[in-house]
Amino acid sequence: MDEHDRTLGDLLESSIVSTSFQSEADRQENILRPKLLADFQGQARLKENLAVFIKAARSRGEALDHTFLIGPPGLGKTTLASIIANEMEAEIRMTSAPALDKPKDLAGILTNVTEGSVFFIDEIHRLKPALEEMLYIAMEDYEIDWVIGQGPAARTMRIPLPRFTLVGATTKAGSVSSPLASRFGITAHIEFYNEEELSQIIERSAAIMEVDIEADAIAVLARCSRGTPRIANRLLRRLRDFASVIGDGHITVEVVDFGLGRLGIDGQGLERQDRNILRTIIEFYGGGPVGAETLSISVGEAIESLEDFYEPYLIQKGYLKRTPRGRMTTKLAYDLLNIPCPRNLDDNQGILF
Ligand code: ADP
Repeated sequence: MDEHDRTLGDLLESSIVSTSFQSEADRQENILRPKLLADFQGQARLKENLAVFIKAARSRGEALDHTFLIGPPGLGKTTLASIIANEMEAEIRMTSAPALDKPKDLAGILTNVTEGSVFFIDEIHRLKPALEEMLYIAMEDYEIDWVIGQGPAARTMRIPLPRFTLVGATTKAGSVSSPLASRFGITAHIEFYNEEELSQIIERSAAIMEVDIEADAIAVLARCSRGTPRIANRLLRRLRDFASVIGDGHITVEVVDFGLGRLGIDGQGLERQDRNILRTIIEFYGGGPVGAETLSISVGEAIESLEDFYEPYLIQKGYLKRTPRGRMTTKLAYDLLNIPCPRNLDDNQGILF
């Protein structure tokens, strides 16, 4: 990059980079974030494959292929992006698509990335079309076209970029355009974690936080964490509060039961809003189908959190189904809420019409 490019990049780059790590919750999350693949629990196949791709890229002295991480919130997409950078011994720049408003925002970051570094874009499905187009060229040809001046005097400057790795994360793979998705060389789906994996995550976090927690209490907490490490870690922090206020700081099964009860979380990790969503579909919409927008208004929940946070777990637990005509409850949902099941309901299949 010549002097002119560097100045342009410096001028364009703003506080958009790394804004995702500034709140207290984010700071706490960072402390617990595993730094290397070996500390990243679960997702065995994904980890094994990634280890191979990283080793191969390093042995060739190349940047890792662009990597696409897909999965619900809190399952480790941001963590994996920083692990990739650490394992590649590369720099990382982080941003999220909603923070990138104008082409200059993206150009500013791209012209500042260094050879072999990792550029992480969270919520990449929310990237604006003009920025998406700039990213296609950057990903494929490692350059961007930048228009200088206006009107007849305008000219396009082609700015070469160093070879970098784009790590894109999304909770909604279906909302990512296929030209963008197809430009990633590696695509990884991150799945919900099982109780054993969550137990290991809780054990590790408790050790870092220097919290004393019984093995039985870890098991109960793992069961109530919605298959999600972020929730496991957050609940652990809240239970540490309960343990120090109502007990001697030691997290026992009793503290977990008491704390989860106070937080309105049941033995499967369902919250009041989960039950409210199921009850609303059953009582107001006869069990469905009901569209996501209507449902989000009915339960007073933003459509993003309905679709990204509540629904995936309710679907995984078998209480809810997404059909082309909308959301439908299953027989399990009626049983959970102790509501008599209508006669035309097929076992676990939703209402038959
Ligand atoms: P996402 O980007 O998918 O929303 P994050 O990467 O921010 O999720 O992960 C949320 C928190 O969960 C992080 O603080 C991290 O410590 C923890 N976490 C996520 N995945 C794992 C894992 N596989 N092993 C250990 N901790 C994890």
